[in-house]
Amino acid sequence: MSRSARPRSVLVLFIAVLLAAPLLLPEFYVTLLNYIGLYAIVALGLVLLTGVGGLTSFGQAAFVGIGAYTTAYLTTVHGVSPWLTLPAGLLVTGVVALSLGLVTLRLSGHFLPLGTIAWGIALYYLFGNVSALGGHTGISGIPALQLFDLELRSGREFFYLIWAALLVIILATRNLLDSREGRAIRALKGGSLMAEAMGVDTPRSKIVIFTVAALYASMSGWLYAHLQRFINPTPFSLTQGIEYLFMAVVGGVSHVWGAIVGAGLITVLKQWLQDLLPSLLGKSGNFEMIVFGVLMILVLQRARDGVWPIVQRLFPAPPARARPVEAQALPRRPLPAPGAVLLDVREASKRFGGLVANDRMSFRVRAGEVMALIGPNGAGKSTMFDGISGVDPLTSGAVSFRGERIESLPARQIARRGMSRTFQHVRLLPAMTVLENVAIGTHLRGRKSFLAAACRADREEEARLLSEAAAQIERCGLAGQMYELAGSLPLGKQRIVEIARALAADPCLLLLDEPAAGLRYLEKQALAELLRRLRAEGIGILLVEHDMDFVMGLADRVVVMEFGQKLAAGLPEEIQRNPAVVEAYLGGVE
Ligand code: ADP
Ligand code: MG
Repeated sequence: MSRSARPRSVLVLFIAVLLAAPLLLPEFYVTLLNYIGLYAIVALGLVLLTGVGGLTSFGQAAFVGIGAYTTAYLTTVHGVSPWLTLPAGLLVTGVVALSLGLVTLRLSGHFLPLGTIAWGIALYYLFGNVSALGGHTGISGIPALQLFDLELRSGREFFYLIWAALLVIILATRNLLDSREGRAIRALKGGSLMAEAMGVDTPRSKIVIFTVAALYASMSGWLYAHLQRFINPTPFSLTQGIEYLFMAVVGGVSHVWGAIVGAGLITVLKQWLQDLLPSLLGKSGNFEMIVFGVLMILVLQRARDGVWPIVQRLFPAPPARARPVEAQALPRRPLPAPGAVLLDVREASKRFGGLVANDRMSFRVRAGEVMALIGPNGAGKSTMFDGISGVDPLTSGAVSFRGERIESLPARQIARRGMSRTFQHVRLLPAMTVLENVAIGTHLRGRKSFLAAACRADREEEARLLSEAAAQIERCGLAGQMYELAGSLPLGKQRIVEIARALAADPCLLLLDEPAAGLRYLEKQALAELLRRLRAEGIGILLVEHDMDFVMGLADRVVVMEFGQKLAAGLPEEIQRNPAVVEAYLGGVE
């Protein structure tokens, strides 16, 4: 959103410079720019995968290889037209990426990067050892690309093709990130837990960005093969895979334009160092790799977000301030009749090893009531929330939501049925605006795909989602902070953003974990007023809160927990008089 506000003139100027470059520059520089373009296409995939999605891959060079080898083989051995080998290469890459992704993306932590290293090496040796692919000598005699009557034989002619392809996928990627699916991808990095609770199918999002990144690499490989007209396994090795990662990180790993900056910097620097270092040291060798290693450490130390944010500061975009335009309201879920049982928890237990955090807990929440779950720290309230919402499933027991058993459903399926929650330890994406954070809550209310987003066919739906998010923000009293970064708000306000995000999902049951913590007196009053209004609308609210005045003034019924068990249940005034509760809270002090 803020990005589209950036002056178009910068982009136009950039394209003008690109158009003029091959006409004015000597051959050497055109070649260099061609390589920068080819590398940037691969690095862009890594921006999406690593920078935005938080998944590290060392194996992208192997996907470049698949694109290059597919076209080299099909054109030289079978005489297929290069324009058909592009889709063929993308298809092969897509199938390989999907299969690898299904296996490796399930691996967590350091297993995923290790997995990418493994397949990077495996594919490299495959290219080198299959005799039909020319072994280590490679394949020569790859035909030049033919564009109508023009044969693209020189680097100057090829230049336009490479850079046009790069610009198209940069814009498509930027569009994708600025959409419903894009927000789901950006949410991956904050840990999948929150995204899942908002209804995002995170394994699917991961597979998609993994495959898209592989397809970009494959396209770069196709271009490379027809530019060079000769290939061997060397440029598709693990070393090159690491270099692609360098480019993405140095450029600015979460910015699409950072891919060009990174590819440009690394390519030029490498060229320069390759000339300079051997003459400086009086020896030949790959000294530039040593310098790169040091450079990488410096970048990670000094400019974690890469070089692009520094470039960006030169062209500041005017901050977006206007509320998203009012769009046709999204359809709402029919709410159950007030008094109907929404949630029925029976004998719910959760064990962490030897610790019983929830011990045969049973209670109900009805539509149009506020049910408070109270108890000392460590009583097991948040664990109960995680069990009910599917974020961390129960060990045993049953949970029915609107008459349907949900205890073994994944969080996103439960969210789809109309349950929405906030987290005690706030789970916002601090680098995204309040509006974007809340819009994640609308995820299940839109259906436009990645492809629709990439070519901007999602704008009508997107306007409706953003308008809904804005309406919820206004309802929660945060209209003035809509375009502030979520991470810049005080913690109390961040909790309110979580409530707005939960409301954006149009829930019939709301789970609020300590929503009033960190709020000032007047803010608490406003929150209580909001919850009363939601209750009057017929929403059921399950509330965990330590502020007893807040709870007792608001709750219709109260359940008290201690050591994972239900200690008492009843009306607020009954609970306040209950000796066991007073004992638990005051620790036996008279
Ligand atoms: P409350 O929200 O009531 O303060 P919690 O539900 O957060 O309490 O925690 C209940 C108990 O379960 C605590 O003793 C806590 O240390 C333990 N616990 C919570 N989450 C985990 C976990 N993921 N692994 C192990 N123990 C946990
Ligand atoms: Mg808690």
